[in-house]
Amino acid sequence: MKCPTSHIIVPDGLDRVLLHACCAPCSSAIVEWLVAHNIEPVIYYYNPNIYPLEEYEIRKQESKRHAESLGIKWIDGDYAHDQWRQAVCGLEHEPERGKRCEQCFYHRLLATARKAQELGIPWFATTLASSRWKNLDQVNAAGLRAQSFVFEHSGLLSLSDSGLPRFWAQNWRKDGLQDRRNALLKQYNFYNQRYCGCEFSFRE
Ligand code: SF4
Repeated sequence: MKCPTSHIIVPDGLDRVLLHACCAPCSSAIVEWLVAHNIEPVIYYYNPNIYPLEEYEIRKQESKRHAESLGIKWIDGDYAHDQWRQAVCGLEHEPERGKRCEQCFYHRLLATARKAQELGIPWFATTLASSRWKNLDQVNAAGLRAQSFVFEHSGLLSLSDSGLPRFWAQNWRKDGLQDRRNALLKQYNFYNQRYCGCEFSFRE
């Protein structure tokens, strides 16, 4: 379904989504858009890639503050940084937007798909796709891979009517959301992040 005034495509029947939030600034305009279009977001904060722990805590509290200000349900994922390091093992020297980032996206979106399955939320999406620093194709491929993994391990023969979560691939930079993100960043006075998140991006 396409909203008459929007370039963002909403799948038929989608009225609730588990939204993986990478950070408060990237979530803000997307959450606003969802609420304005009668879609209930449940925010899942799962970003064990962030290093060090102090930085993780700051970004997490900003995401929580944002959700609480809007009365939106916010779920705290674990800080499993060691697991994340295992997931990107051997890719430490990859550049940003390279294979390490592909694996990082997949790790976070697989956890999101599993959480959506656990909660019975039929769709999941991510704010990762909103940043112009990220490769949109990599993000969407990771989400679809996560969707496939959950389906293939379900023992079911068809995804249709299975109730398993589907990935809502979307370009969240459309509809002026990039400008709105920048405006909300100032309005909320969000913490200004200076690197993507992991120790390797910190080094770069
Ligand atoms: S640079 Fe960013 S997206 Fe890439 S691996 Fe590090 S935290 Fe993940």
